[in-house]
Amino acid sequence: MLKTLKNRFEQGYRTSRYPKEKIKLLSRYRGLPKINQNAPADLVLQCADACPQKAIDSKHKMIDMGLCVFCGTCERLSEGSFVSFSGNFELAVSMKEHLLTGGDLPSLSRHSRQNFKALFGRSLQLRQVSAAGCNACEADLNVLATPFFDLARFGINFVASPRHADAIVVTGPISRNMKTALLKTYEAVPSPKVVIAAGSCSLSGGPFCGSPEVSPGLDSLIPVDLFIPGCPPHPLTYLHALLTYFK
Ligand code: SF4
Ligand code: SF4
Repeated sequence: MLKTLKNRFEQGYRTSRYPKEKIKLLSRYRGLPKINQNAPADLVLQCADACPQKAIDSKHKMIDMGLCVFCGTCERLSEGSFVSFSGNFELAVSMKEHLLTGGDLPSLSRHSRQNFKALFGRSLQLRQVSAAGCNACEADLNVLATPFFDLARFGINFVASPRHADAIVVTGPISRNMKTALLKTYEAVPSPKVVIAAGSCSLSGGPFCGSPEVSPGLDSLIPVDLFIPGCPPHPLTYLHALLTYFK
């Protein structure tokens, strides 16, 4: 017992002070893209052609963050002169059209629904549905329960049953085999309920976009309240989205 207490004392307090204190991520992290609107048209076209997700709108010099998998090809190819990725992990939006960005995003807090803040601001129970995800989106959600992020200190928890949940968090491209299970889970959540699409797969099909085996995005099946881009989204992207949208 004394050994455990000594160990605990030596470990100290490891929980992040975010959002009270800012966190700077490693330089290799790819967050919100910065887009140079003065980049030469031929370079923009080259990047658009090389993009594996066809996420670059070369005419308007914009990136669709619902499709983007943050592979960095456009940044490498343009040597940062067209696209460079910032360390800004605050990427969530409440409307799908906001995912198409020229380098900035509308404030999520201004677009949050006040009734959700009133209903779920003090207690939010989430049911995670992995609809054929590769497990990376799920792992980075799971990590929110660890002592560093300690999601429960904000009154946010994951629950086992959709009947105990206020919201579902959907990851993965929603394969044909998972569609019915997902829709049944959605139906089982009591109203008023919130739907969160997390990761490029659930936003657009991600790397599987266009395949007849997956859906073209969660919003094609059920109404979505919160879109969280990334492949996978960083745990801080999830945390920022949940705290900004519900608190
Ligand atoms: S980082 Fe996104 S926009 Fe750039 S090439 Fe990769 S998928 Fe396309
Ligand atoms: S968005 Fe990327 S990380 Fe998440 S499930 Fe799809 S492929 Fe995996």
